[in-house]
Amino acid sequence: MSPPIVQSSLFAFPTLQALSEAQAEEHRRFVYSRGQNPTVEALERQLAALERGSVAKAFGSGMAAVSATIIGLLEGGDHIVFVNQTYGPTLQLAELLSRFGVEHTVVASGVPDEVAAALRPNTRMLWMESPGTMLFGTLDLRSLVDLAQSRDLLTCLDNSWATPLFLKPIELGIDLVVHAGSKYLAGHSDVLSGAVIGPEGLMEQIFYRGYMLLGASLSPFDAWLQIRGLRTLPLRLQQHHEGGLRVAEFLAQHPAVERVYHPGLAAIPPTEFRGYSGLFSFALGSNRREDVHSVVDALRRFRIGVSWGGPESLVYSPQSGDPEELRARGLPPGLIRLSVGLESPPSLIEDLEQALGGLR
Ligand SMILES: *Cc1c(COP(=O)(O)O)cnc(C)c1O
Repeated sequence: MSPPIVQSSLFAFPTLQALSEAQAEEHRRFVYSRGQNPTVEALERQLAALERGSVAKAFGSGMAAVSATIIGLLEGGDHIVFVNQTYGPTLQLAELLSRFGVEHTVVASGVPDEVAAALRPNTRMLWMESPGTMLFGTLDLRSLVDLAQSRDLLTCLDNSWATPLFLKPIELGIDLVVHAGSKYLAGHSDVLSGAVIGPEGLMEQIFYRGYMLLGASLSPFDAWLQIRGLRTLPLRLQQHHEGGLRVAEFLAQHPAVERVYHPGLAAIPPTEFRGYSGLFSFALGSNRREDVHSVVDALRRFRIGVSWGGPESLVYSPQSGDPEELRARGLPPGLIRLSVGLESPPSLIEDLEQALGGLR
């Protein structure tokens, strides 16, 4: 029932001829574990099936998957448009790639007309996140897919937040799906992993031009841990969904809270999602940096840390970074992000109540 962990860096062959035949199609044969490995491949089959895609490739982190996708598919002279508030390191990669002649534009509003206005003759790809990072605004994915198809653009969506259980981008016509498996897919705060899922031709390019050369492969043991994590994904996500909504609803009626950024509490909730995960944010009415620190530091059940998607609830605020950057990214100064874990929602609400009650 549980797949073996094939802890081997290479695979031996009966003849030199057999080896060279395998090397000619290294994307589907076991030659060297920087290419394919049986345990990693078992995970990839599950991820492709969950996303309704043809082929999946697993990576040693989410950023490895993002990097291999963009580097594997774009050339110097190409232009990429980032739609919505985009994960910070993805934009840092785009900045780096400008040194190699890949241009980019960010359309943080995500509005299809503004995306259309940002397209250039050399635009190759729309990179989407829905909901977006930090403010959790969702995209009109159907209109964006129509726009991309009419202009012959590749579409890629970072689906780490919703997971394939709550959003199936490929069924909506999106070409490629990227994941930080480190979050909900592995789900226990003990693995770094990533994945890309898409059609065979594009995946072969990503394999040979991105994955193999960047070398950010997933270890067989970490692939096995993620396979184990996937077995409880439906139960975990149901709990994250319910707990997240209950905590968000509590915050929405609290006098110290200005606004809650949760897709389920939006004026027009999105229609593409089958559920919501447990990651969202809220803004204090206060703009004072000290108030953000005092609320975050007073929490006991929410541990202070980056990342999200594990069993234990986490709290983070971009206030820990540069205030200039906060403004540049359009984030309110009182913003606090919560990753609601698997604890009982009343105990989390009680904790937030005491932390917010300490504000003077
Ligand atoms: C965390 C994250 C990533 C990167 O994943 P790592 O495993 O940390 O490299 C990419 N996209 C989103 C939306 C993320 O939250």
